[in-house]
Amino acid sequence: MFQQKSFSQLRPVAILCKVIATLACLVILLLVDIHHDVPSALYLWVILAGLCCWAATKVRSVGTLFILSTTVLAISAGCLAQVALIIGHPDYWLLPIGLMLSLPSAAIHIRPLHYLLSGALIWATDFYVIQPQFERPLDALLTLLAVGGALLTGVAVCSAYRHIRRTVFELQQQLHALAYQDTLTGLPNRRAFMEEVEGTGGRGFFLMIDIDDFKQINDRLGHAAGDQVLVEVGKILRATSPRHPIARLGGEEFAVAASVPDLAGAQLLAQAIVDAVHALQTHGLPLSVSIGVAERRLGEAAASWMHRADGALYAAKMAGKNRFVAVD
Ligand code: GH3
Ligand code: MG
Ligand code: MG
Repeated sequence: MFQQKSFSQLRPVAILCKVIATLACLVILLLVDIHHDVPSALYLWVILAGLCCWAATKVRSVGTLFILSTTVLAISAGCLAQVALIIGHPDYWLLPIGLMLSLPSAAIHIRPLHYLLSGALIWATDFYVIQPQFERPLDALLTLLAVGGALLTGVAVCSAYRHIRRTVFELQQQLHALAYQDTLTGLPNRRAFMEEVEGTGGRGFFLMIDIDDFKQINDRLGHAAGDQVLVEVGKILRATSPRHPIARLGGEEFAVAASVPDLAGAQLLAQAIVDAVHALQTHGLPLSVSIGVAERRLGEAAASWMHRADGALYAAKMAGKNRFVAVD
């Protein structure tokens, strides 16, 4: 989940950075071409980088995006290094090219290891193209410090971004649970249920479920025992209606939006819930639920559908509880 979220967050930035790098290489090649002779192979490399940018808009996996990003960055490093050779003084350009391409890319990689591999490839390409043309040997210590320092800084930046993304992701998950989940039973709450039911707009049967004489359970056995009953009823709903949206609407009221094809299916489900709750033991006190069943009318709003199921529930209570009543 976190991985997928990171991917969808970073992909647009990664694509934008790749496009900028590719365009920058193209502009530089065109400018250099005015006064120098730029081999046409370099333009072909830039076209390949452009194709990688285009392919990145289609990919769905972190690994493929990493390969494409790294390819574009390595091509950019190779092109710029070739340009440095063409315009002269390649020793001046070795470090700037490596730094310019490797440091900003720390922000677009999902994992620090990915950044490290990509950064290493940028530097390797840069060295491979430029270094053999040097008139004098490199200052080994300075080069090591620059390359090692850049890679370590990049790893630190990439790790910090990853940590921030994970913290935000976890906070979002917690907020979502607080907003959409009932803390006692772990079932979706009224908001989640109504949004889902409103969103689907399809046909089905609303089962409005209310525990009978729940106040007595609280009064005789205590609030904690009452809470336990709510949890048990929640488990029964999960077990009997695994394929349908369910919720604790509030208090001792629950709901199921049964997507069964006909009334017979809804009646079967309602009876199964009534029977399962009745079979529960509550310290010697009888436990039961009443259920109102209403079929959704074509295009009916969720609130009106629920209201009709509530009417059927009232009828079930009036008829003696521990049963369901269905309305048209
Ligand atoms: P009926 O058969 O007509 O449905 O009667 P009832 O006693 O079930 O209904 P009533 O509305 O009179 O009482 C519901 C009780 O549910 C009152 C309230 O204190 C209790 N209740 C609501 N939320 C919770 C909860 O989270 N935990 C516990 N233990 N009790 C709750
Ligand atoms: Mg009630
Ligand atoms: Mg009740």
